Amino acid sequence: MSDTAKKPEGLDLLRVPFPASQISKLPKQMRRGDQDKGKCARGSAYSADGYYCGGRHARSIHLDYVGHAAITDRLLDADPGWTWEPVAFGQDGLPALDADGGLWIRLTVCGVTRLGYGDAQGKTGGDAMKERIGDALRNAAMRFGAALDLWHKGDLHSGENEPPPEPPDAALVDLKRQVWETAKASGVESADHLAHDFASRMDGLVLADASADELAAYLALLQHEASLREAS
Ligand SMILES: [Zn+2]
Repeated sequence: MSDTAKKPEGLDLLRVPFPASQISKLPKQMRRGDQDKGKCARGSAYSADGYYCGGRHARSIHLDYVGHAAITDRLLDADPGWTWEPVAFGQDGLPALDADGGLWIRLTVCGVTRLGYGDAQGKTGGDAMKERIGDALRNAAMRFGAALDLWHKGDLHSGENEPPPEPPDAALVDLKRQVWETAKASGVESADHLAHDFASRMDGLVLADASADELAAYLALLQHEASLREAS
């Protein structure tokens, strides 16, 4: 190894893409509140994209994601003193959940603090809080650029052109227009409806503040669903 090439460290290290061995598949259910759950085995209708994870879930597509352990490992490499804390506590002194059962956290790495939001991903009981914490850490780490390439590409585009990484404002406006038109075609009736749908499926993000990457991920989800509707 050469000492002349400076290896990324600190916050820069968080942006280094994860190796394939640390990338897993996360089922993302197609319809919110879908209670029809079953084993995602080969040929099963619980997979909407032909990937069969073997888990038990409602009809879903599968997104690439980096798990809690790999994120923690990377955070430790970047800053052994990294910490997180809940944004709010309940009267019982435990971390407070929002009205949707999600957990807001502050993640601090190398002295920089950013917010993250996690939900239970359908888990219940004692596993639910562990899932919320892991999900919130992944979400907050993404705000530092960790595994951003997965958000950027997803595996939703397969074969389509990727959006440019940092489009100028005109491109952002165009992206918003595409989101709006695609959402209208899928039955979204108003700006409020769209904002709510966006928040519910994008980990509580606010549509008005969405980055190009977040809009592109949401648009890809809408387009994927539209293509599935056409196919059926
Ligand atoms: Zn599955």
